[in-house]
Amino acid sequence: MSDAAAYSVKMRASRAGAHVSGAERIVTASSVPKVAALLAERALSHSKGVPDFVNVKVEALQGPVRRVKALPVETHVTHSAAEGRALAAKLLASVGIGRADEILALFPESHGMRGAMLLDADTLERLEPDRERGVRATYMDDVESLGKSPVCGKNHYAEAIVLATKVQNAPGIVGEVCVSDDPDYVTGYVATRELGYRRITVVKDRGDPNGGRIFLYRGPREGVAETLRFLERTPLLVTDVPSLAAPSGPTRRFEGLERDLDARREEGLFRQCRTLESKTGPAALVGGRELVVMASNDYLDLARDERVVEAAASAAREWGAGSGGARLTTGTQPPHVALERAIAEFKRAESALAYATGYMANVGAISALVGRGDAVVSDELNHASIIDGCRLSGADVLVYRHGDLDDLARKLALCRSRRRRLAVSDGVFSMDGDLLDLPRFLEVCERHDAFSMVDEAHAIGVIGETGRGLSELFGCGSPDVTVGTLSKALGSEGGFVCGSRLLVDYLRNMSRSFIFSTAPGAPSAAAALAALKALEAEPWRVARLRENVAFLVSVLRRHGVEAKSESAIVPVVVGDEKRALAASAALEARGFLIPAIRYPTVARGSARLRVAVMSAHSESQLRAAAEAIASCIS
Ligand SMILES: *Cc1c(COP(=O)(O)O)cnc(C)c1O
Repeated sequence: MSDAAAYSVKMRASRAGAHVSGAERIVTASSVPKVAALLAERALSHSKGVPDFVNVKVEALQGPVRRVKALPVETHVTHSAAEGRALAAKLLASVGIGRADEILALFPESHGMRGAMLLDADTLERLEPDRERGVRATYMDDVESLGKSPVCGKNHYAEAIVLATKVQNAPGIVGEVCVSDDPDYVTGYVATRELGYRRITVVKDRGDPNGGRIFLYRGPREGVAETLRFLERTPLLVTDVPSLAAPSGPTRRFEGLERDLDARREEGLFRQCRTLESKTGPAALVGGRELVVMASNDYLDLARDERVVEAAASAAREWGAGSGGARLTTGTQPPHVALERAIAEFKRAESALAYATGYMANVGAISALVGRGDAVVSDELNHASIIDGCRLSGADVLVYRHGDLDDLARKLALCRSRRRRLAVSDGVFSMDGDLLDLPRFLEVCERHDAFSMVDEAHAIGVIGETGRGLSELFGCGSPDVTVGTLSKALGSEGGFVCGSRLLVDYLRNMSRSFIFSTAPGAPSAAAALAALKALEAEPWRVARLRENVAFLVSVLRRHGVEAKSESAIVPVVVGDEKRALAASAALEARGFLIPAIRYPTVARGSARLRVAVMSAHSESQLRAAAEAIASCIS
């Protein structure tokens, strides 16, 4: 194969003028048709959506293409944005680039630029001629693609190394910092000729959309033009690009796991299961001691209710312990059918579909409703099962600021052209206990013709006069899709989706977590049904719970603890992870089980005691708990 016959093949795709994807290869003449076809295919099947414009450009390259060896790669495992950034700063400082913190602070500015920022490494003056576009490093490839038939998929890792190698070979360039602008991709790198390519596993917080590339230049201003020419015009082939797989052996494999866990321990983030040695209830045995439990989602004390327990026991005798199959095969028994009917009636919906868990309901519903090319707009504090459903769906995920429905509207407007749009929110936010403004949410969704979906896991049995949820509280309509769980206030297990008959028929046919998992056993379904009946017959439980929450909050406030709640969840934010853990341990010593909730369940630095109130807590238990909390966090 001769370099004289090298061609550049470039693809770029856009929709409504906005960039969707791009790629390039340097290949021999005989590979050009195949590569051009592959890149076109890639453009048309990009996860960011179907483009309305695709350009595939083929150019013959003049003369032999220069080859350089790939930068050596090293990976640094970090556990937080702060740690990753500190490391990046240290690495840059080690090669004489001193103002790393200021450089890293520029990423919000580079957000949205197609190319990189070009900065004077010392004065931080911006040198790129076009600030909107930035500097694009192009005409480069892994030498492997020259001869071999190109692989169809995209190897982001290899592409990043090829790019970083080209950049570090440019005259005047002394370093590069790269942070992905994908809110879900938290890994970044620092590259310099001396250090090579230093991959840093966490350089930003999940959900942070700010990112981009910053090239660092040192030299006279007259030299910039030559640097740009090299980056944007001079073809380069990179040899010895390492593959992603790290060298592994039986020990290396596990060492990594241990290191990760050790880091968690150091940060007060290591977790273990605690065994409750008695029935769940307002008090339980832990390690042989009775503790007041202010951590349970069994808000209405129905998990140990005689009627609920008996329903499960007799269903086990009548229908068996397990269902033996998925719902669509052999797993549907009369208790499942009765439960779905009762849920629909309770929620005043046309129809309901029971899932094995609330988690599966969210994952199954979201991934069935939206897919590639669609968009889902999600509150930044939504429950993990919603986040996972969004990711699994393959739809583009836009995250809006917590509770900010103007931001929701803006983001829905951004994806007007999508086939489907879904807006999704917790009804009661599980770590803050605050509520969604449902009427406005519905109005915004309607205006943008987006599916509205609300997760009422912590709302069922808690919110509204009779515990029917947010629609009851606000006296408004229901979202297109309501998700709930049977495992919290209903004291049983399982999840559900309710809405129109069309929606439920659709999900029964399309929702993979419903289709491909064994149905929960009849005992669970029967227990949930009995709990639902108890809730309907005894609305005093809901009223009692509300009074208990108000009482606890008032005692906390009297003791100078900032607290409020619109649900059964009363967060007492402490901040530091280890302080929260210490407070929780001190409370346990005093006889209260109140967990410290830490990252990754909540953001780092916002660790909290999460106090969950039950209707069955007595006034004296609540008063004692509030006093203990006040003294343990001060
Ligand atoms: C608990 C919870 C779920 C998951 O429900 P499970 O039945 O426990 O799987 C989903 N969403 C929210 C908001 C929750 O708090």
